[in-house]
Amino acid sequence: MSTIFTQIVEGEIPARVVYEDETTLAFLDANPLAPGHTLVIPKDEYERLNDVPDDVSSDLYDTIHRLVPAVEESVDADATTVAFNNGEEAGQEVPHVHCHIVPRFEGDGGGPIHAVAGEPPELSDDELDDIAADIDSQV
Ligand code: AMP
Repeated sequence: MSTIFTQIVEGEIPARVVYEDETTLAFLDANPLAPGHTLVIPKDEYERLNDVPDDVSSDLYDTIHRLVPAVEESVDADATTVAFNNGEEAGQEVPHVHCHIVPRFEGDGGGPIHAVAGEPPELSDDELDDIAADIDSQV
């Protein structure tokens, strides 16, 4: 069963496509959080960011990099929030990697990306050192 985004790639369901190349596609979100809210996807179906192969990953970044100024310009946005919900627990509903480009406007009432998680944890310097070392060892 293919994702709804694969169905868009295949032309089986309509979308307001704003950019397309060999490996990536960008289209307007059907339930926009702001005018110009755009999704950028790899055409092939990968559920999470870390499932995307290196070459497609750089294509995806290139498309995001290209789309952000175009989106900002087209709706006269002051800024953009650019983010992935990476996994169900993080709010990902469509299991096909997609980057949200959400135009932001002065006084729009939205929050920063810091608002997405729950209560911030209290971490000691030792705990932070351990976490940093652990991440470093896995890269
Ligand atoms: P997420 O919660 O990160 O998985 O976001 C999925 C996004 O896909 C939501 O913002 C939806 O509004 C959007 N969406 C779902 N179906 C469609 C569709 N057919 N065309 C465009 N956007 C869609």
